[in-house]
Amino acid sequence: MARTAAVIGGSIGGLFSAVTLRNAGWNVKVYERARAPLSGRGAGIVTHPQLLDALDRVGANTADLGVQVHDRVVFDREGERIHTLPYPQVVTSWDRMHQTLRRMIPDADYHLGETLTGYADDGEGVSLTFASGTRDRVDLLVGADGFRSAVRAQMLPKVQPAYAGYVVWRALAQEAELSADMRARIFDVFGMFMPAGTQIVGYPIAGENNDLRPGHRRYNFVWYVPVSTQDLADLLTDADGKTHAISIPPPLVRDDVVSWIEGAAARILPDVFCHILDKSERPFFTPIYDHLSPTFARGRVALAGDAACVARPHVGMGVTKAAQDALALAEHVAGDVAAGLQAYSDERVPASQAAYERAQLLGRYMKQVPEAGDPTDGRNNAHMEEIIRLTAVADFP
Ligand SMILES: Cc1cc2nc3c(=O)[nH]c(=O)nc-3n(C[C@H](O)[C@H](O)[C@H](O)COP(=O)(O)OP(=O)(O)OC[C@H]3O[C@@H](n4cnc5c(N)ncnc54)[C@H](O)[C@@H]3O)c2cc1C
Repeated sequence: MARTAAVIGGSIGGLFSAVTLRNAGWNVKVYERARAPLSGRGAGIVTHPQLLDALDRVGANTADLGVQVHDRVVFDREGERIHTLPYPQVVTSWDRMHQTLRRMIPDADYHLGETLTGYADDGEGVSLTFASGTRDRVDLLVGADGFRSAVRAQMLPKVQPAYAGYVVWRALAQEAELSADMRARIFDVFGMFMPAGTQIVGYPIAGENNDLRPGHRRYNFVWYVPVSTQDLADLLTDADGKTHAISIPPPLVRDDVVSWIEGAAARILPDVFCHILDKSERPFFTPIYDHLSPTFARGRVALAGDAACVARPHVGMGVTKAAQDALALAEHVAGDVAAGLQAYSDERVPASQAAYERAQLLGRYMKQVPEAGDPTDGRNNAHMEEIIRLTAVADFP
């Protein structure tokens, strides 16, 4: 009889693990806390050769995966192109990745509205309890439940994500909303602006329903902004005065906080990026955290994706790393589960650490404190060459 696995978390990391385990002959159930199907998280995802390879290996459809960009372009404050690096790359969207993988799991095995509350691993199997009262018992438990993972909280209670000292503001503008001039100046490139102390990255992605037709796509806006721990508490406080721990749901970000970032944009950013923000739906922010679990497995329980490690978004490795975790996981548990998971952890901890450290390096460059009198025109970043060459690149093992 097929061995059984439960994957906690039905986002991209969980789906990747579910697909690789199913392909290896496991009987897999996915349990997702959200009550409604996950969709519309619609931000951009850069792809790497390792991700394309992983998608091929699991048998996912990679036709029309995203938008092909050819060049990386650094803009200065005046919106002039000051540096160009040819770097062909496909940029896709969260929705596209999620839909592709979701179709590979039968509806009967994907359970919404199920929040894991705890597990007990007795060496022979793992018993699971959910807030709904649902119970299950499986041969293997995979915690793919994100960086605030309930599985990790039980397995490694002392491991806590650490705030990196800055947030990322994100927004999406419809291509059709952009003026012809701005569209011509920025839409087709992976654009960047990098004065000391802040950084912008932007690139085109598919429109809704993976629409890749010119005129129907969107431009993804990513702006890293330093925020002290004290100011973060204010940003995380909603209009009712409730301060949210760690991050705040986008609709609850206060209007004055959105006005503040829009005002800062007008003062700091080149016109091309101001235009993108101006034409975007309401921007939202996510605090940036560092997190690397010292082990990705204990007994019959594994961690995968963001639950195991979060590399800051500068490397764009979250989805690729989750895919690599999933491939390694299914391969290692072909025999004895506990021994296989230890081997999985031994392989994936150092590999994740490489992405984690590269992302921290890029984050340090972003956070350089401007000296008094430093120009803010984005022309004088001493690390410009390195940042443009290493951002969203996976050239580590
Ligand atoms: C600004 C930004 C830009 C990014 N850009 C990129 C990029 O370019 N490329 C890239 O590869 N990655 C990128 N990422 C990261 C990427 O989105 C994630 O790393 C990736 O989606 C893997 O996430 P995950 O599935 O492991 O976790 P998540 O997406 O966080 O999913 C965890 C899931 O578990 C569910 N869950 C949580 N607790 C429970 C519970 N107790 N019971 C049941 N379910 C539960 C949640 O509801 C959620 O659906 C970016 C991230 C940010 C913030």
